[in-house]
Amino acid sequence: MSHFLVHSAATLLLQLVAQGQLDMEGALTARDRVGIQDFVLLDETTEAAFLSNLKKRFSKDLIYTYIGTLLVSVNPYKELDIYNKKQMDIYMGVNFFELPPHIYALADNAYHTMLTEFNNHFILISGESGAGKTEASKKILQYYAVSCPSTTLLNTVRDKMLMSNPVLEAFGNAKTLKNDNSSRFGKYMDIQFDGQGDAVGGHILNYLLEKSRVVHQNHGERNFHIFYQLVEGGSDDLLHQLGLERGCQHYNYLTQNTFRNSVFSMFIVSNRGILLINYNFVQHLFEVIASVLHLGNVRFDSDSKGHALLNNNTELHWVSNLLGVDAHRLQEGLTFRKIEAKKDQVLSPFTTDHAIYARDALAKAIYGQTFTWLVNRINESMENKDPSRKTVIGLLDIYGFEVFYVNSFEQFCINYCNEKLQQLFIELTLKSEQEEYEAEGIEWEPVQFFNNKIICDLIEEKHRGIISLLDEECLRPGDATDLTFLERLEEKMGNHPHFVTHKLADKMTRKTLERGDFRLLHYAGEVTYCVVGFLDKNNDLLYRNIKDLMCQSKNDIVKECFSSMDPDSRRRPETVVTQFKSSLQKLTEILMAKEAWYIRCLKSNESKQSGQFDEALIRHQVKYLGLMEHLRVRRAGFAYRRKYDVFLKRYKPLCPATWPHWRGVAADGVEVLVQHLGYLPDEYKMGRTKIFIRHPRTLFATEDAYEKC
Ligand code: ADP
Ligand code: MG
Repeated sequence: MSHFLVHSAATLLLQLVAQGQLDMEGALTARDRVGIQDFVLLDETTEAAFLSNLKKRFSKDLIYTYIGTLLVSVNPYKELDIYNKKQMDIYMGVNFFELPPHIYALADNAYHTMLTEFNNHFILISGESGAGKTEASKKILQYYAVSCPSTTLLNTVRDKMLMSNPVLEAFGNAKTLKNDNSSRFGKYMDIQFDGQGDAVGGHILNYLLEKSRVVHQNHGERNFHIFYQLVEGGSDDLLHQLGLERGCQHYNYLTQNTFRNSVFSMFIVSNRGILLINYNFVQHLFEVIASVLHLGNVRFDSDSKGHALLNNNTELHWVSNLLGVDAHRLQEGLTFRKIEAKKDQVLSPFTTDHAIYARDALAKAIYGQTFTWLVNRINESMENKDPSRKTVIGLLDIYGFEVFYVNSFEQFCINYCNEKLQQLFIELTLKSEQEEYEAEGIEWEPVQFFNNKIICDLIEEKHRGIISLLDEECLRPGDATDLTFLERLEEKMGNHPHFVTHKLADKMTRKTLERGDFRLLHYAGEVTYCVVGFLDKNNDLLYRNIKDLMCQSKNDIVKECFSSMDPDSRRRPETVVTQFKSSLQKLTEILMAKEAWYIRCLKSNESKQSGQFDEALIRHQVKYLGLMEHLRVRRAGFAYRRKYDVFLKRYKPLCPATWPHWRGVAADGVEVLVQHLGYLPDEYKMGRTKIFIRHPRTLFATEDAYEKC
């Protein structure tokens, strides 16, 4: 965090107020009218006072409020005129607390801290599905793209970073019941800056795309946007070439046409130069999307023995055409399994159910692999090969906590991910903050908070957690099913305070559970999971002969993706959830090595309506996000802290006794210095190695004096 100010903001602020560009609330606390802009300054730290302040501000379209340097954002569900270039200019280089709270202020502060301290940062954006995380990450990216210094040469890097967003959203976002543009993949993006603060490169890590959506969507939800954009917005020529009919009603994988699609923007075509995707690849991308749609229309009948037969060859031919694979072998792959017996290969026929399973598995694999391919391409195009040292700001925008009427394996993974992020937040704020006071010997009244580590352990503990049990069942030969997995869970987890089996459900929560369900008491609320499909989705098996066939595809994307899938074909690939677990572990390590900034997004109501402040819903989020605890720690604590030698080095010109040299111990020098500056005893504390300053304004005054001297 920036402990030293980049420049004094007071003069600029007064100018802005005078010009009428800025509401006075930025400068003064017109608290009755617009509430308080930093919760730390609230008279009382009750939940009621917190909510009332949030509500007052929301009613004036003031969606941002601070808790110290943490930014709370409430989704307004309407366009606000606060994201223009003029606003960006106002916030550029200006001190955090001297202007009304804004996401630009946080972005700017992270940026300037990075420049002055030459270290790495990340911005963690959290909140449940539909709370505004993705919008927030886009606003930050735009801020950096527009307001960092620029040279024409580097503009292309920015264009690429900005362009990557709509492309990935088309392929990775979909309408759900919670959010019309819900991210169905996790995204961590590093923006790399050189020593001058120019954005010079970028890199994206993607996490677990919800592939099952390709072949199935729950009632009221839709498939990924790109499918609709193609079949509704593609040109006649293009559709003809791909063998597609206009309109999503023709495709089994596409339901729901009630949502207005943005016209097919052809952004990939027109911007392929920027993203390094050449014309051939664009063509191949369309072929991939179309082949998935055709696959969904492949139907099977069963013969007298119950074996699957292809119902109509037209669709199959389109698939083989578009993917550039042999039609006969494709048909064989969808209706037979190849079993290697000693030296012979035996073909064992599928039942229709089995054939449908194989078909859907192929569609999911093609789509999922192509998505990763796209991310890799974008990364190549944003890569900066210059070896000079760079600093980064990482932006984390990952799917939020989700509870639906029916929750499956996907929700389990998403909610597990949110538990991990909450754990990271606790580690980095509540826990470490309090540990630092202890280590520095600062007197401290500990603040109690709920630590969700117990839930993380329940899910991921080695050999004992839910993930281990799931993997064991997936790898167990023989009669393992979703229900045997549930039995194992009940056997091992039955007594865990955050696990509820259907046997105990009535007693504990008075809410019944179906057989086949289990319930987890997550930090953000309880979620009932239906185990149906857990084993299959976790195994994510694709039959060998289909995989081999895809490696021979004439579609360069498909060929590249499948050839690189798993080089050692004899080894069983890691299960989906285990891969996810290790990627989250890596992410945690990446983040722990950086300085953190937080944005907590709150959903204002469940019906996506502007102007509605659903108090109960918001209270619930405030509670589980730990905002009250965070506020208490912040209030009882100190906004700024600095090592004695660093503090002394900067401010020693302000005191004759310390200028030009202080001959004694740094801590004593700081004591003399702050006495001279007139710090009151309550405003600061001297720790073992650092000085702690309670309010930002104390430091601002000191910095102002420094600027003038
Ligand atoms: P999340 O990523 O948290 O699931 P999104 O960022 O996709 O949620 O936001 C969901 C919807 O809410 C957006 O499509 C947009 O309509 C609205 N929204 C979110 N943030 C804002 C904002 N700052 N201003 C206006 N509308 C917003
Ligand atoms: Mg999102």
